[in-house]
Amino acid sequence: MQKPVLISGAGLASLLLARSLLQSNIPFQVFERDASLAFRGQGYRLRLSSQGLDAIESVLEPAAFQRFYDQCGKTAGKGVVTLDAVTGKMLEHMPEALGSRGGKIVGISRGDMRRLFLEGFEDRIQFNKYVTGYELTDDGVRAVFADGTKSVEGALLVAGDGIKSLVAKQVSGGRLKVYDTGARGIHGQASTTAFKSLGEGVFRLLDESTPGRQISIITNVRPGDMDDPDIQFGWTLGAVPGVIEVPNNDYSIVGKTAADIAKSLTSGWHPHFKPLIDNINESEAAFWKITCSTPTGVPEWPNEPRVTVIGDAAHAMTPAGGNGANTAVRDSALLGRLLREAGGYNNGVTAAYEKEMRVYASEEVRASYGIATKIFNAEINESTPSV
Ligand SMILES: Cc1cc2nc3c(=O)[nH]c(=O)nc-3n(C[C@H](O)[C@H](O)[C@H](O)COP(=O)(O)OP(=O)(O)OC[C@H]3O[C@@H](n4cnc5c(N)ncnc54)[C@H](O)[C@@H]3O)c2cc1C
Repeated sequence: MQKPVLISGAGLASLLLARSLLQSNIPFQVFERDASLAFRGQGYRLRLSSQGLDAIESVLEPAAFQRFYDQCGKTAGKGVVTLDAVTGKMLEHMPEALGSRGGKIVGISRGDMRRLFLEGFEDRIQFNKYVTGYELTDDGVRAVFADGTKSVEGALLVAGDGIKSLVAKQVSGGRLKVYDTGARGIHGQASTTAFKSLGEGVFRLLDESTPGRQISIITNVRPGDMDDPDIQFGWTLGAVPGVIEVPNNDYSIVGKTAADIAKSLTSGWHPHFKPLIDNINESEAAFWKITCSTPTGVPEWPNEPRVTVIGDAAHAMTPAGGNGANTAVRDSALLGRLLREAGGYNNGVTAAYEKEMRVYASEEVRASYGIATKIFNAEINESTPSV
């Protein structure tokens, strides 16, 4: 009997890989640190590029992909419209780099995406399993958990456990690093009625009224849902270093504290935009540190055939460019395809995957960091420790 592929983390990349293995009849087990998939806020929406959608379509069966695509919001508009947050004037109209099918911006919430990827293997996730590393055996690998216990012996361990992946550190000998760019963000959401005056489209509200303290909000106003006050739209506020100070630097604080800081930072904004922040759903507000992995791209490390890394664990990027999830799902589709073609684990699969992943993921990390240096004054000093 084939040993299972062990997957650390039940995020987007892991669940799409698991779905691919399910289709190929390759056994697997997923280990997730949280108590359930709904344990943390899932509020924010992801914009899917053509490449991201193609990767998802290559994994899901046609009917499942149709269900997925039907669930996505499709926003028209002429690209990203930048408005001066204080005067309300239009500043810039940029073609949307992430426009995908039908020329629309296709987006879905992270929670819906996970739920749709997970169809058919809900029973294969073990929760409350915090993976701290791995142990190679003569003929396989075991994941090691925080309570000292170990998993069954697997053929392969795949780390899809995000920016703080300990498996990524172990397998790369510390070469995979994630840095704090100094820029900070707040995620918020409010009832759709607060967005109505913007109309359909993707908007960036830019406040440069105080030199050196630039802040901006990006939001995507979808049609259809706009008249339903029970639906909430999200926005993401990003600020250059030094503008958002999280009390005691404690990023586990969410809710009212984050909402109040967003309100005070935007108190001078144009009345057209203020409802977005003033009507924030306080319980869903959250701080976030804008991080990025090594800005020159995914580093090389000596391949370990039985352990590899996907998604943010391999290539965390800033929100600039909006390609973190799009790149993560490309990894899942690629590794899933290579495993299917090999009929399960074989010695060369992870090396082949890493070689190809390094090329496209490095491009995306470099592009994202480049944009973030301009719009968030992001700055990485590679001599600082990994976050
Ligand atoms: C506000 C915001 C907006 C974004 N917008 C976009 C966008 O528009 N487009 C886009 O492409 N990307 C976007 N991104 C980036 C995107 O969310 C990430 O790139 C994507 O979620 C990465 O997927 P992942 O599966 O690698 O990791 P994650 O989705 O982070 O999943 C990691 C999983 O591993 C679990 N885990 C962590 N540590 C352990 C451990 N030690 N043991 C076991 N389990 C563990 C976690 O609980 C989680 O379930 C955005 C990010 C943010 C924060």
